[in-house]
Amino acid sequence: MNADAVKVLPGKYCNSLTDYSRFVTREVFIGDVPMGGNNPIRIQSMTTTDTMDTIGTVEQTIRMVNAGCEYVRITAPSIKEANNLAEIKKQLRMRGCNVPLVADIHFTPNAAEVAARIVEKVRVNPGNYADKKKFDQIDYTDLEYRAELERIFQKFKPLVGVCKEYGTAMRIGTNHGSLSDRIMSRYGDTPQGMVESAMEFIRMCEELNYYNLVVSMKSSNPQVMVQAYRLLVETMVAEGMNYPLHLGVTEAGDGEDGRIKSAVGIGTLLEDGLGDTVRVSLTEEPEAEAPVAIALVQRYALRSQKSKVESQKNETTPSPLERAGERLLYSPYEYKKRETYEANAFIGGHMVPRVVIDLQHANLKDPSVLNAAGYIYSPLLDKYNMGEQSVDFVFLGDSLPSFNMPGNLRQLYNYNTWKKLANKMLCHPLFTLEEYTAADADRSSALNLVRITHADLDTDAFGAIPLDRSLVFVLETTELHGMADQRSFFLKMLEMGLDIPVIVKRTYDFESPNPKSKSQNEEADLASHISDLNTNLQLFASTDLGALLVDGFGDGIWIDALQLPSGIITSTAFGILQATRSRISKTEYISCPSCGRTLFDLMVTTQMIRSRTSHLKGLKIGIMGCIVNGPGEMADADYGYVGSGPDKITLYRGREVVKKNVNTDKALDELIDIIKSDGNWIDAVEDI
Ligand code: SF4
Repeated sequence: MNADAVKVLPGKYCNSLTDYSRFVTREVFIGDVPMGGNNPIRIQSMTTTDTMDTIGTVEQTIRMVNAGCEYVRITAPSIKEANNLAEIKKQLRMRGCNVPLVADIHFTPNAAEVAARIVEKVRVNPGNYADKKKFDQIDYTDLEYRAELERIFQKFKPLVGVCKEYGTAMRIGTNHGSLSDRIMSRYGDTPQGMVESAMEFIRMCEELNYYNLVVSMKSSNPQVMVQAYRLLVETMVAEGMNYPLHLGVTEAGDGEDGRIKSAVGIGTLLEDGLGDTVRVSLTEEPEAEAPVAIALVQRYALRSQKSKVESQKNETTPSPLERAGERLLYSPYEYKKRETYEANAFIGGHMVPRVVIDLQHANLKDPSVLNAAGYIYSPLLDKYNMGEQSVDFVFLGDSLPSFNMPGNLRQLYNYNTWKKLANKMLCHPLFTLEEYTAADADRSSALNLVRITHADLDTDAFGAIPLDRSLVFVLETTELHGMADQRSFFLKMLEMGLDIPVIVKRTYDFESPNPKSKSQNEEADLASHISDLNTNLQLFASTDLGALLVDGFGDGIWIDALQLPSGIITSTAFGILQATRSRISKTEYISCPSCGRTLFDLMVTTQMIRSRTSHLKGLKIGIMGCIVNGPGEMADADYGYVGSGPDKITLYRGREVVKKNVNTDKALDELIDIIKSDGNWIDAVEDI
C-alpha cells in the first residue's frame, strides 16, 4: 500500500473521532422539559393504545413515565384523535402527570394543526406530510421540483404558524422507508435523500422564523441510520444550524435482536457525541423501552463534557465526499471495509468477521461445553452438529481439553502452552507483542495472533515487529472511551498503510451478585441479575463493536464477560454481526413497535412468525401493524406481513402486493407458501 496516497479525514459531523466530546446543539423547549444544549440526553417513547381510548392511553402514559420516559408520543391519525389529545392531557394533569406530550402525524396536516394547539410538540414526517407515496418514479425538471416545494411550503406554513403562536416544538422526523416519490426520484433511497428530505422542511421553518425544531433520521438498517445522522449534522453545520437530534432505529424488533440493533445504531452516534434524545423502538410493551434507552445513555454521563468549540476546527476541512479523485480509505458516510490480507485462508480479506469466545475456565472434560460455542454435542453419536452460529475460535489459554475438538473449530492457546502442544493442527498461538518479536523460529507457519493496544503503535516493540501474512492483531483497550481508542488504532493503521487483519476484543467486568445478600428466592434473584447483565452486555458490546463494524473496521470480534454464560456471549456476538450486516446467520425481522394504528397483536404475531421462519438465514421479513405506514416502513424487507383491516393481513413480496386482505388465521401459511413458491424456503434441521 502507498501510504502517501491515503487520506484519512475527520468528518465535520462530530467534534472528535478519537475522543469523547458531546456535540452541543441549540436548546429547544418542549413544555418545561428542555432538550439539546447542555441538558441531559432525554428519554422518550410512544404509546401503543388507541388514541380514542382515553383511559387506556392515560394509564399507559403514566406507566411509561414511571419507567423513565421524559416525553410521550401519541399517534393522531385524524382530527378526531388529535382532538382527543386534549382529554388525554387533561386526565394526565389531573393525575399529577405533567409529562410533555408529542403528537405523531402522518399524511394529515389538518390533524397536525389541531394537535399543535394542544400538545407540547408535533412530529411530522416530511416524506408524507404533503407529499405522495405511490412508489412512482417521476423525473422532475428543476422548475417542476421548485414548484413542488412551493406547493409543500403552502401546505406546511399554517402548521408552523400554529406552532409559533402556541409555543409548540416540532420534530422533522425522516424515515428511510417513507421517503417521498419526489425525494426518491432525485436522490434515491440514500442517506443523502433522507437528509435532504428533512433539510427542505427545516429551511422552510427558518424562512418563517421558526426554530423550535428537533430532527431525526430513522432507518431499520443501523448502518443507513448512522450515515444519515452524520450527514445531517455535517449539512446542518455547513448551513449554520445545530438543531437537537432525536436518535432511533425504527422497526428494530424485539428481545435480543431489538436491543442489539438499537444499540448498534443509537450507541454508535452516542459514541460520536451526537444525540439529545433517544427512543428505542421495540416490539414489546412501551414501558420496556425506557430502561433500555436509559442504560444506553447513562454510560455517557461520566464522560467528559467538552464544549463544541473543537467542531469549528474542522470547518475548513473539505468533506470526504467532496474529495473526488483522492484515494480516501475512510469515510464516515459510506461503508467501506478496511482492506486487509487473508491470513491462512481463514481471516481477513473478503472473509466474514470471525467470532472468538473464551472457554479457558469452562469444564474442558465435558464435550457438551461446546454447546455454548454453537457446536451441539450428541453423546449418542459422539458427534458435533455445527450451525450458523458456531464460533470460529475458542480461546483456551493454558487449559487443555480432554476430548477431541470438532474438526473445524480452531483453538487459541497462550504462546508458551501452544509451544508444548504435540499436535498443533488448528491450534494457534496468542502472543504479547514482546513474545512475538522474540519468538523467531517458534512462531506458527499458519496463524499468529498478537495482542495489541492503540498505545503500542508508538512503542519500539511495535517498530520491531516482524511482518508476514500469518500475523493477526487482537486489539484490546482499557480506556473508558474504548471505541474511540480502538477507532484511533484503525485510523493509524490506515495512515501507515498496514493491512494486517484485526480482531477487536472488548472485556466487560460487570458486578457479580452480592454473595452476602440474603433473599427468599435466591435463584430468581440470580436469574434476574443475569438477565440485567445480559441486557447490559447486548447494549454495551453492540455499541462498542458495532460502531467499528459499521465503518468497516474489524476482521473478527471477541467479547469477554466473565460473569455471563458463554452461550449468551456467542449469541450476542452473532447478533452484532447480523445487525451490522457484516455476517448474516439468521432471519431478520423488521417489526414495528406498534401504536394506536395497529391492527393486530404485534408481539404475539412476531413470535408466531419467528417460530416458523427463524431458520431462513438471510431472509428479511417485515411485520407491520398497519397498511398506512407499514409498506413504506418495511424498507428493504424481502416479504411483508401487514395489517390491512380488522382480522385482515396483506402479504407483500418486497414492495409488491401478492395477496390482499387474507384472514389472519390463514395469513402465515399463505406467507410461507409465497416464500416456497419463490424457492426461498428450506426445511428446518432437527437437532441431533
Ligand atoms: S407501521 Fe406500526 S408503528 Fe408504524 S404507524 Fe403502522 S402500526 Fe403504527
